[in-house]
Amino acid sequence: MSPRLDLGPWPNLGYAASRIDRAAEKRADAEAMHALEADATARWYVLGGELVAMRKSTSTFDPLFERADAHDLGPAGLPSVFLGMMDGAPRFALSIEAEAMEALKSRDDYEISDLRTIAVRGMVDGVHLPPLAEGKSLLLWHSRRRFCSNCGGQTRVVDAGWRRDCPACKMQHFPRTDPVVIMLTIDGDRCILGRSGRFASNSWSCLAGFVEPGETFEDAVRREVREEAGIVCGQVKYFRSQPWPFPSSLMIGCHAQALSHELVIDHNELEGARWFAREEVASMLARAHPDGLITPVPVAIAYHIIRDWVENGVEFD
Ligand SMILES: [Zn+2]
Repeated sequence: MSPRLDLGPWPNLGYAASRIDRAAEKRADAEAMHALEADATARWYVLGGELVAMRKSTSTFDPLFERADAHDLGPAGLPSVFLGMMDGAPRFALSIEAEAMEALKSRDDYEISDLRTIAVRGMVDGVHLPPLAEGKSLLLWHSRRRFCSNCGGQTRVVDAGWRRDCPACKMQHFPRTDPVVIMLTIDGDRCILGRSGRFASNSWSCLAGFVEPGETFEDAVRREVREEAGIVCGQVKYFRSQPWPFPSSLMIGCHAQALSHELVIDHNELEGARWFAREEVASMLARAHPDGLITPVPVAIAYHIIRDWVENGVEFD
């Protein structure tokens, strides 16, 4: 039986499908890096904390700046980081101080917004979202790792922004990515959606949680669903993953097989969770639910995990 309302073509998953060639072999080559910075096609993304600077143009916003223009936007707290090559052109990210970014909000020729809003509203061409996510996570890591976590000494940037070294204890520090499992727990034609107190009051989504040390992502899925909703899960199927630069998570999307059915909700984690019929979820995806309940925005992986089950179903052994 097909309960579907027509949801239209699949939207793009935000921050994923990067066209950047990271060209990691060039990072340690200072001469090559100088040449790339001087290349006429080189462009900079300019960030400051959660915010991104964009130039206003006729139809959309342009987040790319030439080198001098990027540095004119405000004092940089760090050297540029090298994101890689996009269609043969070097791409860098530069972090300017938060006050300078705030000051740009009063300028008519710039648009200043956070990366979540930029993605949800489609403010820039989608090709810019992955490098902006890459730059945001990397620059934020730098801002929080000025001192060595081993000895407390001051670290220095090396490899075009992809490592920090501690001259005192010789420890090398690498940018981190935090794995998060995000899953839809399924029992035939129904699934569990939950809502946290941070969500809009009509919004329901997948459960999610950080992977802990020593855990597979399958084990993390089973643990999180058990902890948050009291449900025992069996098989876990990997779906897709998504970089989530708030500040540097990797969302690991899964479908999980429910083996038990009685919900026991951890109200420290969730405001609510319940079983939803497939038809009801289809109406939420289509923004046609009679009570106005909705699923997450299409740039988020939760939308894709939920829609894949609604449209294609998930078979467990
Ligand atoms: Zn150290």
